[in-house]
Amino acid sequence: MPRIVVKFGGTSVADVARIERAADKVVREVKRGNQVAVVVSAMAGVTNQLVEYCHQIAPYQDAQEYDAVVSSGEQVTSGLMALALQKRGVKARSWQGWQVPIRCDNSHGRARIRDIGGEAMKESLSGGEVAVLAGFQGLSKTNRITTLGRGGSDTSAVALAAVLAADRCDIYTDVDGVYTTDPRVVPAARKLPMISYEEMLEMASMGAKVLQVRSVEMAMKRDVPVQVLSSFDDAIGSDMPGTLVTKEGNIMEKEIVSGITCQRNEAKVTLLNVQNKPGVAATVFAPLAAAKVNVDMIVQNVGHDGKTTDITFTVAKTDLQTTLSLLENSTDFECEAVLSNGSLARVSVVGIGMKSHAGVAKTMFETLGRHKINIHVIATSEIKISVLIDDSYAEEAIRALHEAYGLEKSNHDDKNNG
Ligand code: ADP
Ligand code: ASP
Ligand code: MG
Repeated sequence: MPRIVVKFGGTSVADVARIERAADKVVREVKRGNQVAVVVSAMAGVTNQLVEYCHQIAPYQDAQEYDAVVSSGEQVTSGLMALALQKRGVKARSWQGWQVPIRCDNSHGRARIRDIGGEAMKESLSGGEVAVLAGFQGLSKTNRITTLGRGGSDTSAVALAAVLAADRCDIYTDVDGVYTTDPRVVPAARKLPMISYEEMLEMASMGAKVLQVRSVEMAMKRDVPVQVLSSFDDAIGSDMPGTLVTKEGNIMEKEIVSGITCQRNEAKVTLLNVQNKPGVAATVFAPLAAAKVNVDMIVQNVGHDGKTTDITFTVAKTDLQTTLSLLENSTDFECEAVLSNGSLARVSVVGIGMKSHAGVAKTMFETLGRHKINIHVIATSEIKISVLIDDSYAEEAIRALHEAYGLEKSNHDDKNNG
């Protein structure tokens, strides 16, 4: 019997009417002869509200209690979904992370799944029940509730699909697939019928929040076929033309550029004239690593006399103050000045065809130049080019690049002329 995992995001379970509508889709999948496990997010806005309650009590809270609070939205929707299914005559049971159990590490707020003890859930599915898992939550090594990071229900769904050896993992959301860029920013964005795991991973890491980064990592590692679908469309599962996230080998027509993403709220720090000697970079970054500050693009430029070097790197804007005070208090290195800019955005173009096509970077730099958008830092990988620009130009840059690479709907046939 085919086994599928279907996940409904926050807007798809935003109220009782939407939960009922999602339940109708689940029932239709059951009637088609599938064993179905459902993963639900909290109702839209609820997790934000719960986070806000924690912040109102204290700006920095005990991470275990934070997780106890913010995981609770999914408990509500999993129970409501089970009730909605029961009302439709389908056997259903809700599962919290600890009941499965979804065993995680101890990094509260951004826990990683270590393993899933899915035996009891498999039995429930084989017994004809729909299992409804509360997404986003797991159990720490010390048996406390953990959460998987914002957007983590995607990861719950893919992890469950992997452990249940499901035939598909359908991610129902408020857009009908993965687009060439966020369709809310560029209405002319085009839906991609297929995207490779690698491209989706880069797009998710570079700001396309349609799938959580770790869910894509997991899908790629465990070879889980993931479909992104609209929960507002009447069709279900493979009847619907969503986006299939799959192995590169399954994609016949490889795009040179598949998508453009943007990550707002980036900050840049520059250390001027640091002494140029072995080990200096390690002394600069060690205190940041110890404080779990995630450092991203790093550029080091040695001065022409070879004695000093400038080091520039980026961090999330929320980590800027911590970063600056750690650097200023560090006695392990000396520099002339620490400069910073907290109003930047990182715009990236992603595409697997870049591996074998020249000229993608040239198009990007020319386009930004034409729009008089200054580039602060550039970083590349095999299938991505990212630039750091002033945040105020972010949307203009995305629109201009989207057009320059011919990604719009109307330009479908002669796209990717980078
Ligand atoms: P859910 O609550 O279902 O998990 P999210 O809000 O996390 O949904 O993700 C869906 C949103 O992702 C869309 O509403 C869209 O604005 C945004 N998004 C960003 N980039 C893209 C993209 N390239 N393709 C589709 N959606 C995108
Ligand atoms: N409810 C959680 C969040 O808002 C998890 C999710 O929606 O995926 O981040
Ligand atoms: Mg999401």
